[in-house]
Amino acid sequence: MTVLKNVFRIFYPKLCANCENLLTENEKTVCTFCRHDIPLFYDTNYSENKITKIFYGRVPLEKATTLLSYRKEGITKKLIHALKYKGNEEIGIFLGNWFGEILKKNNQFDDIDYIIPVALHPKKRKQRGYNQVSKFGKIIGSHLKKPFLEHILLRTTISKTQTFKARFERFNTIDTTFCLKNTSLLKNKHILLIDDVITTGATIEACAKELQKIKNVKISILTMAYTE
Ligand SMILES: [Zn+2]
Repeated sequence: MTVLKNVFRIFYPKLCANCENLLTENEKTVCTFCRHDIPLFYDTNYSENKITKIFYGRVPLEKATTLLSYRKEGITKKLIHALKYKGNEEIGIFLGNWFGEILKKNNQFDDIDYIIPVALHPKKRKQRGYNQVSKFGKIIGSHLKKPFLEHILLRTTISKTQTFKARFERFNTIDTTFCLKNTSLLKNKHILLIDDVITTGATIEACAKELQKIKNVKISILTMAYTE
């Protein structure tokens, strides 16, 4: 059996998503060497940290956290890029399992009711073939034993640059709008909103504002990475 497996691996080798070296049987998606080099966000305070600060005065949040630090160059950028543009959905599973294990142990999100991903516009989803946060969100949900609701928050316009606006205005303009399909289900619930990378927070803010229209809703945020 092992011989057969090794022969199979010659034809279908699994490579590290970062260094592209051959993975061993026990490694998944990223080799052990690269995994140790991945910069973690690491802040044990989920109620007040760099991410919650982004949303001060914009959206009231219960908690917010992320797994990785995203820098201009580096492993995180390479992984997110492969997930979004190279069809490597396995990265979402890898990050979901990693983060899911941490969250299961620290009990920070034990009181959430649903996990909802930031929606992609249907056109973009068709182009890519998947929403890059779907697998990540589902896996987190399975670790926390919470339902993942993929088709409840919808994106209604495609984001585009508004060329006639001044640069500072453009930065603050939300070009996308979101709508909710089933608001009664979310009444009095604590929602964990998930996305890939958080930078200005504009997209998450637009989603959160839509969620806030629901009576007694509580919102927390979780992302794969945070732009340092
Ligand atoms: Zn590697």
